[in-house]
Amino acid sequence: MEKNTELYRGKAKTVFTTDDPEYYIMRFRDDTSALDGKITRQLERKGRTNNHFSFFIMRSLERSGISTHCVKLVSDDECLVKKLKMIPVECVVRNLAAGSICRRLGIKEGLRFKKPVLELFLKNDELHDPMVNESYAQAFGWATSDELESMKTQSLRINEILSDLFAKAGLTLVDFKLEFGVDTRGNLTLGDEFSPDCCRLWDTKTMERFDKDRFRQNLGHVVDGYEEAARRIGCPL
Ligand code: ADP
Ligand code: UDP
Repeated sequence: MEKNTELYRGKAKTVFTTDDPEYYIMRFRDDTSALDGKITRQLERKGRTNNHFSFFIMRSLERSGISTHCVKLVSDDECLVKKLKMIPVECVVRNLAAGSICRRLGIKEGLRFKKPVLELFLKNDELHDPMVNESYAQAFGWATSDELESMKTQSLRINEILSDLFAKAGLTLVDFKLEFGVDTRGNLTLGDEFSPDCCRLWDTKTMERFDKDRFRQNLGHVVDGYEEAARRIGCPL
């Protein structure tokens, strides 16, 4: 499949059209950003690590019955994906307290919730991704009631599948963000990526972080941490 024009350059990935109108090529760059893009840095090997990591996870999800946009790896930092019409609402699932929920509710990091928490955020950097709810999503036409129902069910199912996958590797899946879209046949499909850039992964015993908090909190060896998480789950790099 030939890469055509650059369609969209985000903070960490670039999307290209291909000669087939149903597919895009997504390139994972080495760019890393925090604070809605205010802080950016190049981290060597991050693009290829996240590309392989995300593909490995999406393949595992497919095997458990989740529809994803991933088709195949086309290079170390590029993946062929199904073209989706993205829903501008991010789904965040949390098992333990960390990040914004601690600031918002004044709770201690590491608290395990009685059941997983599901939150919705509008994808909008200028507004700093404000938290929204299903009523907003329907009122503004971001997603239909059926799409929201399916996004919720799939997010919680993905949490079960991946919590188990990471637990077997000695890692706790603390929280993560998902993006869904609708494919050319009208099917709700998991898009974007699942990598240490968009989840929190802690060593189950030591609580060492193997995710983007290494960058956000200036803990160092960011990509080494991502590679260690990949190695533990058996993802080839
Ligand atoms: P951001 O837009 O947050 O800066 P990225 O740098 O990760 O994000 O850019 C990737 C963009 O591509 C995101 O806006 C994401 O919603 C979009 N995207 C992900 N998967 C697909 C897909 N299969 N089809 C169309 N767009 C997609
Ligand atoms: N997340 C993300 N993109 C966003 C916002 C959040 O990938 O735009 C991920 C983040 O990495 C974490 C989870 O979603 O795994 C919850 O993030 P939180 O709301 O705690 O925000 P943060 O404090 O990380 O900014």
